[in-house]
Amino acid sequence: MIDSTPEFEVTLGAHYLPEREYLLNVLLGEFLGQKFRSKRGAGDDVVISLEGRSLRLPQTLLRGGDGNGHGRRQPPRQIHGFDVAEAGFAQAAFGSRTVPILYGDSGSDGSWITQEEDEITLHADVLGSSFFLLSRLEEVGSDTRDEFGLYPARASLAWSHGFLGRPVVDEYVEILWELIEALWPGVRRRQTQFSVWVSHDVDRPRAFDYPGIRDRLFSVRQHARSGTLPRLYGSCALNAIAGVLGLPHRDPFDNFDWLMDTDEGQGLRATYYFLCGGDTSLDGRYDVGSSEIRSLLRCLVNRGHEIGVHGSYATMEDASMLGAERNRLAQILRCEGLPDHVASVRQHYLRWRAPVTWRVAEEAGMDVDSSVGFNEVVGFRSGTSFEHPVFDVEHRRELRLRERPLHLMDRGLRDFDQEQALSKIDDLRREVARHGGTLGVLWHNNTFTESSQELARYQRAIAGA
Ligand SMILES: [Zn+2]
Repeated sequence: MIDSTPEFEVTLGAHYLPEREYLLNVLLGEFLGQKFRSKRGAGDDVVISLEGRSLRLPQTLLRGGDGNGHGRRQPPRQIHGFDVAEAGFAQAAFGSRTVPILYGDSGSDGSWITQEEDEITLHADVLGSSFFLLSRLEEVGSDTRDEFGLYPARASLAWSHGFLGRPVVDEYVEILWELIEALWPGVRRRQTQFSVWVSHDVDRPRAFDYPGIRDRLFSVRQHARSGTLPRLYGSCALNAIAGVLGLPHRDPFDNFDWLMDTDEGQGLRATYYFLCGGDTSLDGRYDVGSSEIRSLLRCLVNRGHEIGVHGSYATMEDASMLGAERNRLAQILRCEGLPDHVASVRQHYLRWRAPVTWRVAEEAGMDVDSSVGFNEVVGFRSGTSFEHPVFDVEHRRELRLRERPLHLMDRGLRDFDQEQALSKIDDLRREVARHGGTLGVLWHNNTFTESSQELARYQRAIAGA
């Protein structure tokens, strides 16, 4: 019987050592919980060995001389399908019978897996395919941009090949695990359970925050038109007018007590991201240092919620600006006698660019970014439901920063009717639950007043994990 937590030996081959080491750290180390020591070797294959048996992983993306510049390499037009039933794997661990394989050449007899005595070879390049997704390689250097200067979901390979709704990297990990189990029965993997991580970007803590009366009146009409949650809005025309005039009133966006109760009712503690600077027309119109926000910060922290910085519009490529915003928030927290370590960042409008915004976040002193999700659709932009370390493909190194991926945002469901939206939410939850991952959810406090259906969507998203 094998030691259930052995130390594997991994031969990384001769090229792309930082990339390969990173992939082994994430997939074998973090996701599967295996101990290993790595060493340089000859040739292009990565080989995982223990007790005279080995798993050989030929490389297709990360092969040849390092000078090939994988940053410019795009995936082949044809995406192959790995048939899990044919491989004899438990189908329940996968989102469908076939797993999309971005790189790899099947063996001489057309099969993805070949075995010779004590060695199994996996011809599907799950390391290269994972690297493509986790590092967002297709976005690096891409000129395709939307109105906010961002890489649009519709340009992605996952969108065009219909697998954005599946955490494909997590499925590659399952393939690896099936083969590890076959070679070394008795080895145990890291056990995880499905969970939901919920977050709220505070773009507008007040509904009647326009500077001029005219705009404020216009906002009343906007709010009045939406089928509003009466409990949140608690409002009538007089209340709205009082808000416009700056008189005592009940503000429909100031629903934080209710939001905390709702999250806590599901046993969740959320991350709230606050805008702490920025002067474009798309940035916040509130002051994070105002007495109202300070009192909100105290309340959130005292109830166990996390405070993060919502990087303002221009910080996407500006570490000193992001750092200044982080410092401002830290200083306010300190003044209020609260823990002042600001670990988390999410970019406003999800203004994130691979890999520069990760570098910016790290330089600004952040520990965790959560900007890697698409604005216009829901799904798995980086192919995984797990938090993970990130890799900078331009500087070719693993960063200290981690990514907590975002999968489900209120605005990503905007184009769907209620039935479709709820079914999308269920699909995402099922995919994440299949792997014991964490569903990353974002709902804005001001979205709840937009439609009476919003609450039902949110409740479905965060329901008891
Ligand atoms: Zn925002």
